[in-house]
Amino acid sequence: MAKNYKNIDSALIHGGIYGDALTGSVNVPIYQTSTYEQRGLGELIGGYEYSRTGNPTRAALESLIAELEGGLAGFGFASGLAAITAVLSLFKSGDRLLISSNVYGGTYRVLDGVFVQFGIHYTISDTTDPAAFERAITPDVKAVLIESPANPLLSVTDIAAIADVAHKHHLLTIVDNTFMTPYLQRPISLGADIVVHSATKYLGGHSDLVAGLVVVNTRELADKIAYIQNATGGIVGPFDAFLLIRGIKTLGVRLDRHVANAEKIAHYLRSLDSVKRVYYPGFEDAQGHDIQMRQARNGGAMISFELRPDYDYRIFFKSVGLIALAESLGGVESLVCHPSTMTHAAFPREIRDKVGITDELIRLSVGIEDTGDLIADLAQAIAASEVKS
Ligand SMILES: *Cc1c(COP(=O)(O)O)cnc(C)c1O
Repeated sequence: MAKNYKNIDSALIHGGIYGDALTGSVNVPIYQTSTYEQRGLGELIGGYEYSRTGNPTRAALESLIAELEGGLAGFGFASGLAAITAVLSLFKSGDRLLISSNVYGGTYRVLDGVFVQFGIHYTISDTTDPAAFERAITPDVKAVLIESPANPLLSVTDIAAIADVAHKHHLLTIVDNTFMTPYLQRPISLGADIVVHSATKYLGGHSDLVAGLVVVNTRELADKIAYIQNATGGIVGPFDAFLLIRGIKTLGVRLDRHVANAEKIAHYLRSLDSVKRVYYPGFEDAQGHDIQMRQARNGGAMISFELRPDYDYRIFFKSVGLIALAESLGGVESLVCHPSTMTHAAFPREIRDKVGITDELIRLSVGIEDTGDLIADLAQAIAASEVKS
């Protein structure tokens, strides 16, 4: 039956390949198979031959994310970094990428520790300033890779402005949309060519899987990524693809609650004498707030903050109770992490210092628990961390 809808809230549930034509099952089945019987040489039954190349559960996820991001084709990978690795495999020796100054630590690591060995170079550039970004373009630059808001200082890049400059110089614009998801921000509609996700985070949403996604907006890029996906093999398995489809159905309701909680908690933290600084793009006076409100639905649900020097962040991390000290973000449960030793440990100290990733910085992924309970937990952990002189 034809599914008619206009809004992303319906696309989250009905988008891509809905259900199963064979049985009428409303959910896409988990096609837990490595291979597919063929009628005769080259005579495929359902179009599938081997599950690295294609799998119906993965195909349903891939068409769902392509539709949600407004792209031409989607691709499912075993992790966000496998997705980023596939995108970086588009480039060849002698090519250079410009990357935002506070991209995810693992993105920096795979470039610096792996792709540099193959002669693919990178330059760190402040993409929050499109003019500085344009000045950093040298003839060997082939692409720009950005995150907005970027990890962990939540700095906002004007995606449309960067994509404009990039297109003028024939560069690909790659956006890591993990922090926003297509529910809050759709980079392809702003001019991006490629969107990548760590689906481990909000898209999965329950801290129970590791996966990555790529969405592209042209047939040429789709053919190249399909080739790389099959050739290098870092695919998401059928069960995780199923969990992701299931998680994406509630993305909208989850994010509405994540963001409502985050807005209250950001204001609460900012009201405290014990807190030196709060980074939250939803604040009217935050860097890039106007751009954020233009290119995204709201400020999202990630907050970073620093306690005043007479509070010991190490004790704070030991004292949180309801909120867990853990890597990752975007799950229904609230998590705190210490970027300088956890998510951004791959960055050399001098880059961390330059960018502002201090030892005092605390990153909070606000979950969907009761706001009062979360505030009470933060209050007791901050009180416990006060250093009595
Ligand atoms: C977690 C994360 C990644 C890496 O994804 P994995 O699924 O952990 O491989 C990439 N980008 C951002 C912004 C992330 O938060």
